[in-house]
Amino acid sequence: MVSAGLSSLLYGGGHWQGIMAASSRLKSTLALVTGGGSGIGRAVCQRLSREGASVAVVDVNINSANDTLQTLSSNLPGQEHAAFTADVSQGDSVGALMEQIQSRFSAPPRVAVSSAGITRDEFLLHLSEEAFDSVLSVNLKGTFLITQAVARAILATGQNGGSIINIGSIVGKVGNLGQANYAASKAGVEGLTRTAAKELAKFDIRCNTVLPGFIATPMTDKVPQKVLDKFAGLIPMGRLGQPEDIADVCAFLASNDSRYITGTSIEVTGGLYL
Ligand code: NAP
Repeated sequence: MVSAGLSSLLYGGGHWQGIMAASSRLKSTLALVTGGGSGIGRAVCQRLSREGASVAVVDVNINSANDTLQTLSSNLPGQEHAAFTADVSQGDSVGALMEQIQSRFSAPPRVAVSSAGITRDEFLLHLSEEAFDSVLSVNLKGTFLITQAVARAILATGQNGGSIINIGSIVGKVGNLGQANYAASKAGVEGLTRTAAKELAKFDIRCNTVLPGFIATPMTDKVPQKVLDKFAGLIPMGRLGQPEDIADVCAFLASNDSRYITGTSIEVTGGLYL
């Protein structure tokens, strides 16, 4: 959802070309997307479905997951989608989710995108232990639980191959005022993903992180307009990103086009913090 006040910051020349791109790069591929009910996760679900993937849309809020489900493309024979609710910060919930997905699709996901995330912003001197723990639980532990569960499910089939894509943040590299918990969680996501890449490469499971800059979603709708204006002025490309800017990179990482890429972090920031 983009607030009207932001619209002038968002649209650069040629920006919408990628959104319409479609192919069958992910034909016969099941993709799991957490945080699929909103923002970047929703755009990822839509883009992967246009690439021919069947999509398991996962969100803590089943209504928003179902809303995403209604927007997905199903142009190929056998291409089906389903919505699931899960709290990625809870191991039991992730375990139940994997059982439901495999029961519904008779196979594990070969692509997983962890986009579920939260913020609880506060300056370091006032940051509560509870706000620190809750952000680490969803953003970092949730990404760990999904990465582990999907890798285990793939290996249980006896057939190697997969692509795990974790959404970090440029803030994990550079820090940000009022986001000690969030920046720590996102730095952790990069370390987790690089380690997973090293351990899982022998099974042909690639693991990569995408680092968005400032992307117009419900998450950034909470940021005051004057702060957004300030950041937009710092972005060399002169606009905030759109969820589709991230989804397009996820589609590349999910596909065989990125077959020799693992353990990397791709910044998608319009040049912010170059
Ligand atoms: P968003 O619109 O708020 O979407 C996040 C989704 O995750 C929401 O649907 C949320 O559900 C869901 N979620 C929250 N806690 C969950 C849990 N425990 N289990 C399962 N789902 C949960 O945010 P976004 O901007 O698309 O962010 C997506 C990812 O990109 C996040 O990891 C975020 O940190 C990262 N990122 C975003 C930006 C940006 O500028 N937007 C920049 C860098 C990185 P509810 O809404 O019901 O809570």
